[in-house]
Amino acid sequence: MEIRLAKSAGFCFGVKRAVEQVYTQADSGKKIYTYGPIIHNEEVVKDLEKKGVHVIDETNLDEVSEGTVIIRSHGVEKAVCDRIQERGLECVDATCPFVKRIHKVVEKESAAGKQIVIIGSATHPEVMGIMGWSSTPVVVIETEEEAENFVSENDREICVVSQTTFNYIKFHKIVEKLTKKGYNISVVNTICNATEERQTEAREIAREADVMIVIGGKHSSNSRKLYEICAKECEHTYFIQTLADLKLELPKSVGLVGITAGASTPNNIIEEVQNYVRINF
Ligand code: SF4
Repeated sequence: MEIRLAKSAGFCFGVKRAVEQVYTQADSGKKIYTYGPIIHNEEVVKDLEKKGVHVIDETNLDEVSEGTVIIRSHGVEKAVCDRIQERGLECVDATCPFVKRIHKVVEKESAAGKQIVIIGSATHPEVMGIMGWSSTPVVVIETEEEAENFVSENDREICVVSQTTFNYIKFHKIVEKLTKKGYNISVVNTICNATEERQTEAREIAREADVMIVIGGKHSSNSRKLYEICAKECEHTYFIQTLADLKLELPKSVGLVGITAGASTPNNIIEEVQNYVRINF
């Protein structure tokens, strides 16, 4: 029996970088806080808590009087960074450089008077963070219908950016609708392809696999999406958070077991699952 582990399984570049920064800071002996959970993975958050790393947010930031606050890979609005510094706390910015690039574009283009349009979901923390770097009112567009109904404020020039994880095809359709409106518009494609690569690879493996295992957090939307993609291709697809959830009943004559994992699944969990399957089947 062959086991095929997706090369893109688990942490993307930005998340890996942020998690490593938290572990490095945790060893510093200082009081360490992350602004929101560093990733959507209960195991990692619990492990960090044991090391004295606590999660804070806008509701209790003002109760923290000393230590270091780490910004997660999604990034935050400028006002949060300012608040951290005003309180005399150290701020370690682990915002993914791809997201930071969007902040810089939005800051610069809005300062030049342009109206910012973000293609993405208005409730996603990354989008909320991006909005906070604009000095002009921001419009968030998620659907083609919303693009159809969009009216520019005072006929301003428009700068369009995207949530990094937005679907590429949908992005183009929305941009097409906006362009047709005849506004003076500049588009910066800020989609990161880490998510798409992970999904494409998962689909390809699941297509050939007899059994497919998707490892990811219950609350992680990218992991659930991976599961849906794999389940469409492979009848025996399992969605687990850790090895403890794996109640594997292999169908007869299994040739290939595929394994992939969502963006917030640490390597050690992926390895544990891989070793378990290798040893027991
Ligand atoms: Fe950065 Fe892309 Fe990962 Fe988002 S998905 S954290 S933009 S590498």
